[in-house]
Amino acid sequence: MSGSSGQGSDVFNGSADSADITTKGTGVAIRTIMLLGNPVLRTRCKAVPRSAREERARLARDLRDTLANFRTQRGFGRGIAAPQIGSTVRAIHIEPEIGGAMFNPRIVRRSRRTFLLWDDCFSFPDLLVRLRRHHTIEVAYEDAEGHRRTVKATGSLSELLQHEIDHLDGILAIDRAIDQKHIILRSELDRFTAGKGISL
Ligand SMILES: [Zn+2]
Repeated sequence: MSGSSGQGSDVFNGSADSADITTKGTGVAIRTIMLLGNPVLRTRCKAVPRSAREERARLARDLRDTLANFRTQRGFGRGIAAPQIGSTVRAIHIEPEIGGAMFNPRIVRRSRRTFLLWDDCFSFPDLLVRLRRHHTIEVAYEDAEGHRRTVKATGSLSELLQHEIDHLDGILAIDRAIDQKHIILRSELDRFTAGKGISL
């Protein structure tokens, strides 16, 4: 990572434009995270053509570097979707489980079995949302070079992929809350769960 102390605050400025915040000379590409309320997060994203090699390489780099920067700044985050950096195309990046960008990902199988969890999102980092995800899924996608791949995911990787793929259709975790009372501030989780007797 850049290690530059001046970079981090810009990432959270909520700016409507998607201008790169590239750390000059280091090749690190950190882009502004789009925040809840920005219409770009509600856009249905377009497929990335397999022939668009330069676009794929640039997106893969930007997603990787922006995710790494967020983790450094906030201490959480395992995945990011292209609309979160202002690009309305079907690309996500998962780290470390996939270790790279996934283009045009599609869920091709879902288990009937589901599980409940508290979900979070870079685009509303102070919120937690109680929701239900499929326990096991299978995802077909293309890698940065355009090779077709599939991955079978269970548990935490499964819910993460469902979260990121939802972003590509303009769907946010808050849309999937089990009810309106289960959208809470991260700082109030202990108070909320103590009051409701909910076990995590
Ligand atoms: Zn998200």
